[in-house]
Order: sequence, then structure tokens, then C-alpha cells
Amino acid sequence: MDADGGTSARHAARRVGPASDAPSRSMQHPGSTERSRSTTTMSALRIDVADLLARSRSRRPVQLTMAVDDLGVGGLRIDAPLVLDLVLDRVPQGVVVHGTIRAHWEGECSVCLRELASDVEVSVSDLFEHHPVEGETYLLEGHVIDLEQLVRDAVLLDLPLVPTCESLGLVPCEPDVALVDDDPDTGSGDAPVDARWAALSELDL
Ligand SMILES: [Zn+2]
Repeated sequence: MDADGGTSARHAARRVGPASDAPSRSMQHPGSTERSRSTTTMSALRIDVADLLARSRSRRPVQLTMAVDDLGVGGLRIDAPLVLDLVLDRVPQGVVVHGTIRAHWEGECSVCLRELASDVEVSVSDLFEHHPVEGETYLLEGHVIDLEQLVRDAVLLDLPLVPTCESLGLVPCEPDVALVDDDPDTGSGDAPVDARWAALSELDL
């Protein structure tokens, strides 16, 4: 029953991101929206639920493995296919979608820039209805639901804003060893150099 609490927070856009912007994202046109580019790859997420709507109490599992294009936040990217394991439930207001979404992300540690990768598994429970409440429920468009926005909201919300080695339970970020390294050569003599040069010059002659 976390449908209300979860969805309201999802629309607080996660634009923060690490200070150092990922170079790969700079290739994108700054003005273009992420959503418009993804319609082809995400089109499988439009699901006809006419069969569910025809009966007062029914459910249908939906299992999808789909490639994603351009899904990420800050310096993190979703690379591997998304795995959706969902159940659609007919309810009086519309259709409730619940289950899990699994994704694999890659990115850099915000501290030491080491390459990081991890999986996220997000639980969702969201209502699709004909007159959605902005920020809380999603649109049931005739007899079609489009899971794209739900998937984006859920996955992006679950990505770490500032991933670090330690936040993933890895060994701590490597300290800069050069800073603590004492100079062992301090005080070593310099006078003999002149003597050696003198000797060499004598040999050359
Ligand atoms: Zn690190």
C-alpha cells in the first residue's frame, strides 16, 4: 500500500547528479527531451487491457525483457535489458500494476571515478485510471496503459544519486598515496657528485 507515498516523491525530478557531468551525455542535444527519443524502444510498454476491463475482477501477469535506450540519471546509465515481472489487477478505479522491475546500471564512483556497476530491483504498485491524479496515478487511455513513464519513474528513483565505492559495499575509495609518502632521500649528500664529475672528466681526457 505504498502507492500514494511512493508516487508523490517520484515527480521530484532527480536532476541533481554529480558535479562532473558525464561526457557521454554531452553528445545529446541539450534541448531535446529524453522521452521523445525512447518511444520506439519503449513501445512494447503500451499494453492493451481491454480484457481486464471487460470483467470486474481479473488479473494478468506481464513479463517483459526489453532493451532500453537512453535511460539514466547523472552519470549513470542503464545498459542491460530491463526485466519486468508485473501483474495487472483490475480494480474499480482502473488497473493496478504491481510487481518488480530489475535493471543493471553502470557509472563512475563520485569520489575516485572507479567504474561501478550494480543491479537495482524496484517494487512498484501504481494505479492507472481514466482521470489520473497528477503525480500520484497514471493515465488509463481508453483500454491501453503505457508503462513507460512508470518504468522510468521507478527505475530512476532507485538509482543512487551519488554512487560511491563505499555505498555499494566495495572496498573504500583509494586514497591518494602520494600525499602521505615521505621523501626518504632527504639529507642525502650532494657533495660527492662534484667529485664524480671531476673524475669522469679526467677519464674522458
Ligand atoms: Zn570510489
